[in-house]
Amino acid sequence: MTLEAETKAVVAKFDYTDEDVNKAVKEFLRQMGEGLEKDGTSLSQIPTYVTGVPNGTEKGLYMAVDLGGTNFRVCSIHLNGDTTFNLTYSKVAIPRELMVAKTAQELFAFLAKQIEVFLQTHHEEHFEKHKRRRLTVSTPEGFRDEEVFRLGFTFSFPVQQIGINKGTLIRWTKGFDIPDAIGKDVCALLQVEIDKLHLPVRVAALVNDTVGTLMARSYSAPGKTSTVLGAIFGTGTNGAYVEKLENVKKPMAGEYDKSTGLMVVNTEWGSFDNQLNVLPNTTWDIQLDKDSVNPGIQMYEKRVSGMFLGEILRLVVLDLLKNPNISLFKDENSSSNDWRSTTNIGEKSSIYAQWGLDTAIMSVAAADNTPELVTLRQALEALDVYSPSLEDAQAFKAIAGAVGRRAARLSAVAIAAVVLQTNTLTDPENEGEPVDIGVDGSLVEHYPYFRDMIYEALRVIEGVGEEGAKRIRIGIAKDGSGVGAALIALVAAGME
Ligand code: ADP
Repeated sequence: MTLEAETKAVVAKFDYTDEDVNKAVKEFLRQMGEGLEKDGTSLSQIPTYVTGVPNGTEKGLYMAVDLGGTNFRVCSIHLNGDTTFNLTYSKVAIPRELMVAKTAQELFAFLAKQIEVFLQTHHEEHFEKHKRRRLTVSTPEGFRDEEVFRLGFTFSFPVQQIGINKGTLIRWTKGFDIPDAIGKDVCALLQVEIDKLHLPVRVAALVNDTVGTLMARSYSAPGKTSTVLGAIFGTGTNGAYVEKLENVKKPMAGEYDKSTGLMVVNTEWGSFDNQLNVLPNTTWDIQLDKDSVNPGIQMYEKRVSGMFLGEILRLVVLDLLKNPNISLFKDENSSSNDWRSTTNIGEKSSIYAQWGLDTAIMSVAAADNTPELVTLRQALEALDVYSPSLEDAQAFKAIAGAVGRRAARLSAVAIAAVVLQTNTLTDPENEGEPVDIGVDGSLVEHYPYFRDMIYEALRVIEGVGEEGAKRIRIGIAKDGSGVGAALIALVAAGME
């Protein structure tokens, strides 16, 4: 088969038709309902104890930290009370070895240390005062209450939340694996390490990044409309939405304000359809899952999020490289029996290693619409592919595009299901108003046409359609997790 024909055949395997999309939305709604009824279902539907969304008038200075996947972010946020804020921010990559550390303490000590460095760098005045005080007092309780930073801790892994600043880890995702931490209260783990450094910081709220995104977007969204869904498409994917309290049928342990009649629910949609009732399942999906640290789990995430898309693409490329009848990235002059020697890819290229292809290259491929695909070919060369031909680059672009397009259509499934669940399109009180959705994450921010492809799928979904899709407003929640966490810390401080 020619490379072109083989590419077409591969691309077809990533087709997710309008019919597939509609079937998946129905299944998503079913699994959402199930998760609201009881624990232990595919979609966890975790009540977050956040019972409303902000309107933009909130004020004050707060801290926020975010452990989300690839990076740890520390920031302080000044909410100005007029939908705007000022944010000071630092970010550090999580060392790989800490993601799989023996004890949780190792990871959390590293996080506390970053908070100390941040205070030293950006709030020196505050820090100096605390250093002087440190000579005489040994606990943060020794600080005057107004000197203590309330901190929102964005922790984007599945937790069983038992209060606004208390939650136990259910399982790790996104490549983390520290069994010692499972079942422990992650706020307490962080507070203990903060206290060891005598920092004037109190962990006031445990925040899922999707809830943060929802809150941040609602604070800064244009117009009167409050936001219904916060969604992440980054290393992982997840969404949190505003549910009617009466629909949350399963028992809730902690205290919360019942007067709003609302409860923000963290869907944990990364594990949508782990049973594979409706999710697509190519041989590459199967292999990726088999080689992952959590086979059979987070099946939706493994087809949608940044951590996995590059790997799916890599597995496809690898299969084509192994096939002697396909000319992709092949060295015309080689007659070796070892398939690696038949390619024109350097022996040490990361293409050969698990996780060796960053999803970012899919953005490069999608963005490069020049006839010669110069930028993409350069990016491939940076991966040790020697002089990739135009045909090679075209095949790579087409396959990457197919993986990305399927991910966008699957993203539309979750978005549409949440919109339909909340009835905001049909609610007469919301007539003619936009249905606002806040999103965050490199994939949705940087992958060209990702949002366009989501809209294309939304338009064919029953109950949404052309008209509904026009009203759905998907906007980036800039610095979502930081500002959102500050907003939840604010709510929590009011409850102390
Ligand atoms: P996190 O979710 O860890 O907070 P990000 O939202 O930045 O952080 O997501 C990081 C993920 O996004 C990584 O898996 C990375 O491969 C992917 N990524 C980074 N840059 C891009 C890009 N330009 N296009 C698509 N994916 C990207």
